[in-house]
Amino acid sequence: MTDTPPSPTPDWSYETAAVQSGIPRGLGETIGFPIHAAAAFQFDTLEEAQDEFQVNAGLSYARLQNPTVRALESRITALEGGAATVAVASGQAATLTSILSVCRAGDHVVSASSLFGGTTGMLGNILPLMGISATLVPGTPDAVQAALRPNTRLVWAEMISNPAGDVPDIAALAGIAHAQGALLAIDNTCGGVGFLCRPLEHGADIVSQSLTKWAGGHGSVMGGSVTVGAAHDLRGNPIYTEGGEGSVLSVRGEQALAWRQRWLGAHQIGMTLAPHSAFLVAQGLETLGLRLERESETALGLAHWLAAHPQVGQVSYPGLEAHPFHANAARQLRRGFGAVMTFEVPDPSAFLRRLKVLRIAPNLGDVRTLVVHPWTTTHGRVPEAARAAAGVTPATIRMSVGVEALADLQADIEQAL
Ligand SMILES: *Cc1c(COP(=O)(O)O)cnc(C)c1O
Repeated sequence: MTDTPPSPTPDWSYETAAVQSGIPRGLGETIGFPIHAAAAFQFDTLEEAQDEFQVNAGLSYARLQNPTVRALESRITALEGGAATVAVASGQAATLTSILSVCRAGDHVVSASSLFGGTTGMLGNILPLMGISATLVPGTPDAVQAALRPNTRLVWAEMISNPAGDVPDIAALAGIAHAQGALLAIDNTCGGVGFLCRPLEHGADIVSQSLTKWAGGHGSVMGGSVTVGAAHDLRGNPIYTEGGEGSVLSVRGEQALAWRQRWLGAHQIGMTLAPHSAFLVAQGLETLGLRLERESETALGLAHWLAAHPQVGQVSYPGLEAHPFHANAARQLRRGFGAVMTFEVPDPSAFLRRLKVLRIAPNLGDVRTLVVHPWTTTHGRVPEAARAAAGVTPATIRMSVGVEALADLQADIEQAL
């Protein structure tokens, strides 16, 4: 079947692309994304079906492509300033897709150690099952350089790491990775789908992210995406010639990497995003900028206030000048320092029990302010050394600031302390 490609995105600003990209124009078209609840799409003739199965450019079976998911992908591509995106079922699915798109058995990944717990688990427990090893080091250029091996194919770091707030120097890491023939992947979940940071513009090759957080924005949907920049050819990578996929990749040329990610994450492994989820994420993206700008402002206000509070211990927020990654953050973040911070309180259990506005929940990027005690929850299974590397102590509270009034959040925290 033929399908209407989403409207092209000219050189729109972020705010405009967020609400206009991916929506077709024309008589009777919906304002907003139509939800295509479909598993398969029709062909008129045998020849049409045969052609489509040769190139997989259009619509045939929804595990590979669905018009609603495709419209979301085009919006994310516009917001990240990329060349192509595949949307998948969760951030974890995006991480796996990103890594398997360039690594095979025998390959090695160097990752910044300040990581989301699920990524630590993926690198430590899942990829070794496939013969892919990983070394975790502090995300500084020197440490990453020293950890490279001849078989290193991928360098990984989080843009504003969760929860420590580390901010990698993307251009420096890209230079180091490329000098070795490796690619740089940035988990941009806390970079807010290009709103705070566009890693591709700083030299990253792959942007992987959870759409569950700021993209969805309301704690109502799960999703993930992988976006690549222009011109990524896999001809230097053995993956290109092995596994019976080489001929398909050779047709794709510079789009070989993007195609491999779609083929692998969606078509082969089946971590496909559902169209209803794609709709919710696309709708969330329309207000992401408004939310994250406000949340960053409120977070900065709270961070200064908490840092001066006599009952509060260490406050970690990249917007504070005392934060070790403040200079990297100030240089690369476009619209604020993000919504996530950690702070230490004398009695986390009592503090959490007394909260009336802030809610205890293991999520980020919700419109509501959410807190969690990482030591006993998100990082409970992470080895102690890795918890320390992630900036998590028994006294640490992680907070994802929502869109509530600063004064109400401040009053709630004050009474809970
Ligand atoms: C939440 C998160 C993920 C995983 O995303 P899910 O949608 O929960 O699978 C990956 N990276 C970071 C930085 C996250 O915060």
